[in-house]
Amino acid sequence: MEQNRTKWLDYLATRPERKCGRYAPSPSGELHLGNLQTAILAYLQCRAMGGVFVMRMEDVDAKRVVPGSAEGILGDLKTIQIRWDEGPQIGGPYGPYVQSQRSDIYESALLFLKEKGLLFPCFCTRKEIKIAAQNEPGKTIVYPGTCRDLSLDEQKEKGKTRSPSWRFRVPDTKIKVQDRLCGAFSSNLKTDVGDFVLKRADGIYSYQIAVVVDDILMGISDIVRGEDLLESIPRQGVLFQALETPRLPNFWHVPLLKNKEGEKLSKRNDSAGLARYLEKHSIEDLFDFFCENLGVPKGSLFHQRSLEDLFFLLR
Ligand SMILES: [Zn+2]
Repeated sequence: MEQNRTKWLDYLATRPERKCGRYAPSPSGELHLGNLQTAILAYLQCRAMGGVFVMRMEDVDAKRVVPGSAEGILGDLKTIQIRWDEGPQIGGPYGPYVQSQRSDIYESALLFLKEKGLLFPCFCTRKEIKIAAQNEPGKTIVYPGTCRDLSLDEQKEKGKTRSPSWRFRVPDTKIKVQDRLCGAFSSNLKTDVGDFVLKRADGIYSYQIAVVVDDILMGISDIVRGEDLLESIPRQGVLFQALETPRLPNFWHVPLLKNKEGEKLSKRNDSAGLARYLEKHSIEDLFDFFCENLGVPKGSLFHQRSLEDLFFLLR
């Protein structure tokens, strides 16, 4: 057991202290223009602070991976002039930069948390949780804590017929995390989310653990991403702490690209990818379109010196 603890701490000791930003797409299809807007903001914020820019492929859930899409995504990012210092195709000192190649690292983090008593096995099916949570339709399902306090014997018994997922034991206190653009975001994880899954019963590591472990070990100081992920910062905040990192990174949750109806773009409502957009427009048109959507003067995205002003305007 002691070895497990040491293994994560060994990884942690390799963590660089540096100015560093990142973009972390999932290779589950084509990037839409909204993804590109977030990527360019992450890139410019990083360059403005003189940071190292990391590219990371978030392919932890192999079932969602679309063959060929990682190459397509990297090609699109190059087309809009994004250059990464570390990442797929070029490597770097804090890789691998592809999540599917980092399972050993996630497992060491999990064992570390397990040893601290912060994880427990959960044998519930989705249906059982839904029934036990008794929540109103359409509301987030909060894990009701069914398996939180099972005895070792009970765990053993249930383990005979089902393999468990592993959940993080959340504190029953208000967690407040500061975002540079959106201000403070707070949540009581116990009542708002419940104990959340870090490893699924099918062995897949969750987004939350993979992203936090990677951001820690790659020395990411500034996380710029879409504001739809704002609600995950209290969960990530508690994981950063539990994994014993000295400080939280800076979070910048940026506005999403909206369509004419004011809805955010997603792969589902099928916004055009870059190739289709460029059939009728130029890259300059695209950046103007982003500026218009963000409500900042045209050309703002090209002038790095005014980037602080740009982010000021986004506030
Ligand atoms: Zn359970």
